[in-house]
Amino acid sequence: MRLSSRARMLKPSPTLAITAKAKQLRAQGIDVIGFGAGEPDFDTPAHAVRAAVEALEAGETRYTPAGGTAELKQAVCRRIAGDYGMEYGPTEVTVSCGAKHTLYNLFQVLLDPGDEVIVPAPYWVSYPEQVRLAGGSPVVIPTREADGFRMQPEALEAALTPRTRAVVINSPSNPTGALYRAEHLEALADVIRGRDLVVVSDDIYHRLVYGDERFVSILEVAPDLRDRTVIVNGVSKTYAMTGWRIGYAAGPAEVIRAMEALQSQSTSNPTSFAQKGAVAALIGDQACVEEMRRAFARRRDLIVEALNRIPGVTCRRPEGAFYVFPNVSGLFGRRWGDRGIGAPADLAAFLLDEARVAVVPGEAFGSSEHLRMSYATSEDAIREGVGRFAEAVGRLST
Ligand SMILES: *Cc1c(COP(=O)(O)O)cnc(C)c1O
Repeated sequence: MRLSSRARMLKPSPTLAITAKAKQLRAQGIDVIGFGAGEPDFDTPAHAVRAAVEALEAGETRYTPAGGTAELKQAVCRRIAGDYGMEYGPTEVTVSCGAKHTLYNLFQVLLDPGDEVIVPAPYWVSYPEQVRLAGGSPVVIPTREADGFRMQPEALEAALTPRTRAVVINSPSNPTGALYRAEHLEALADVIRGRDLVVVSDDIYHRLVYGDERFVSILEVAPDLRDRTVIVNGVSKTYAMTGWRIGYAAGPAEVIRAMEALQSQSTSNPTSFAQKGAVAALIGDQACVEEMRRAFARRRDLIVEALNRIPGVTCRRPEGAFYVFPNVSGLFGRRWGDRGIGAPADLAAFLLDEARVAVVPGEAFGSSEHLRMSYATSEDAIREGVGRFAEAVGRLST
């Protein structure tokens, strides 16, 4: 059967592929330590689960408004007021089936064929694909590790063309864990201001920030950009609710309306009882978030230290999210049997085969020198996995 050109150019998510391969090995009884996971390993907070179960039992099993219930929209507005210190009303927020779906809808209603979207690399794998699916062109701006993987204002300025429609900011970042501080965002806002550009602010990791660092939204330093900024967030990462599929956007009412119209003709509403669980998560006791954040902070320190002890590997200490992005270019040129390590993908294959450790090669995110390792796993698994990594690297010949 002939598939559409749209379907033919689509790449399946490489991060999900690694997780699937590790799972398959495990099913064969092979003990694989996985650093591929893009989701918290904690259980969903009990009060969110209870709210969903009660909703089911109370018969809340029918369609809701396409953009989410009034109750959930209100909860989102309250959360945004608390987390961002900004007032949004129900016509300025909409709920989708996960933040990934929110972003998909957003690019669909923003882009015409040929419109360009600035995507700083290393990037989350779905941005370029979603932009292309909407007929747009991703314009990838490489960032430097020396700049903390942050897009520099000069680089942004240089990439702008009359076709530039939007710029993606993802802080803290997947895959690098890098956080944009106030001064970085101010400098970017100076470039964006006065231009007809939409800021897509993917804040899905905003509550997972460690040490003395603090999440800052571009709207905190540049509130004048509110009429062209769309905040994207959700419950997946903050509340360990990845399977629930609840994400949201906050932005100008006309964009929100368009996203809801699109959603009303595609998925219709996010699952009714998942919305109930999300309400409980968003407005309920937030102590669970702090508990998970502390566990992630400890694991971050553990994995960064362990990786930096491996000769040939250097690992920047990320400010947030739950990924490290070690630079493994110091291992390039080494050999393993008749195979050479010349790229992250070679090392990832070597680690899976020889150390039974699953990592995601940087190529998937637009890097030719790094691996992405998720530390959404136990401290024991981190110790064991990085230990195996180190031991296997020691067996490579130079
Ligand atoms: C996980 C993730 C999302 C999407 O999460 P959902 O589960 O779809 O809500 C969006 N952006 C980034 C950068 C992510 O890592």
